[in-house]
Amino acid sequence: MLKLSQIVGQSTALKSLRASLPPGRPGSGYLFAGPEGVGKMTTAMAWARAMFCVSPEGQDACGVCGPCQKTQSGNHPDLLILKPSVKLKKVKQDIDIGSIRELIERLSYRPYEAQRKIAIVQDADKMNLHAANAFLKTLEEPSGDTIVILTASNPEKLPATILSRCRTLRFTPAPLEQMVEYLKSKMGLDDGTARTLAVMSRGAVGAADPERLKGDIEIRAMALEFLRESASAPVAKFYKMARTMDRAKERETTDRFLAMVLSLLREMAIMKFTGKYDNVVNIDILADLEKAGRGYSGRAILGLAAAVEYLMSARSLHVNPFLTVSLLFLEARKDS
Ligand SMILES: [Zn+2]
Repeated sequence: MLKLSQIVGQSTALKSLRASLPPGRPGSGYLFAGPEGVGKMTTAMAWARAMFCVSPEGQDACGVCGPCQKTQSGNHPDLLILKPSVKLKKVKQDIDIGSIRELIERLSYRPYEAQRKIAIVQDADKMNLHAANAFLKTLEEPSGDTIVILTASNPEKLPATILSRCRTLRFTPAPLEQMVEYLKSKMGLDDGTARTLAVMSRGAVGAADPERLKGDIEIRAMALEFLRESASAPVAKFYKMARTMDRAKERETTDRFLAMVLSLLREMAIMKFTGKYDNVVNIDILADLEKAGRGYSGRAILGLAAAVEYLMSARSLHVNPFLTVSLLFLEARKDS
C-alpha cells in the first residue's frame, strides 16, 4: 500500500489532505472526484493510514506501526469500505439501500481503536437514489468522530444535496513526465518503454501498476493480433486463444482483452474517419494499427466495437471467457 508521499500527481488534493491530518482538523465528508484509475482510492487508503498511524512521520504514515499494518491488511476495525456490487440479471453495478443501511449502522458505534472512524464509499456515484437519500442524513449530521470519503468518476450523478455536504477534491491524470519518472524509478525501465507505458496508462497511476502494465503489453499484442488476423487466420488459432483465456489464472484477463480490443478499435476508427493521428494513444504501434484497420470498413469497425461493448456487459454477468472470446471471433469474422 502506498504512502501519501508515494502518490504520483494530485498535488492539490494531497496538500489539502495533509493539512487536515492531526493536529489539523479534517472535515466530516469528502468527495474525491476524477477519472477512473487516477488514484482516488489509493489516496483515500493512504490518507486513512496516515490518519490512524500512531507514529506518523512528516504528515504521512510510518508504514510499520500496528494501525498502519492493520489498515494495509484491511483489518483495521475503524476503517469501513463499501463498494458497488454487481447484480445478476441487471447488467449494472450499484450500491443499494441495504448496504448503505448497514454502513450507517456501523458508523453509529464509537471508534474501537482510533480517534475516529473512516468510511470510504468507492464509486459512490453508483448509489441508487434510495441509497443516496438514506446516506444524506449521515452526511448532514456528522457524529464528530466519523470521516466519510466518497470517490466518484461521475460526480454529477450524485444528488446536489450530497455534493453540498462534501468537500470536493479534484483528481486529475498525472502529467506525462511525472508518469515517465515514476515508471523509470519504480520499474527500472528505460526511457522509451517508460514513455510507452505512461502513454498507455493515460496518466492513470492506478492503471500503471508495473506488473499490470507488463501484462497490458501482452494483452495489447494479443488484441492487435486478433484484429489483424481475425478474417484470415484459421479458426483453430482463435479457438486456442479462447481456451488460453479461459484457463488464465486471472479471471479478468478476458475483460482486459475486450477493453483493449475496444480501445484499439476506437483508434482505428479515428484514423479511418478523420485521417488524423493526434488522438491516438497507442502511438508506438501506429503502423501495425493502421495496417490492421485497412482490413475493416468503417462500418465494420463500429459494428465490432458495439459487439465488444455488448460482450463486456455479458462478462459482468459472468458469461465465461471461452464463450465470450469465441463470440467475439465470430463477430469479427462476420463483419470483416
Ligand atoms: Zn504507522
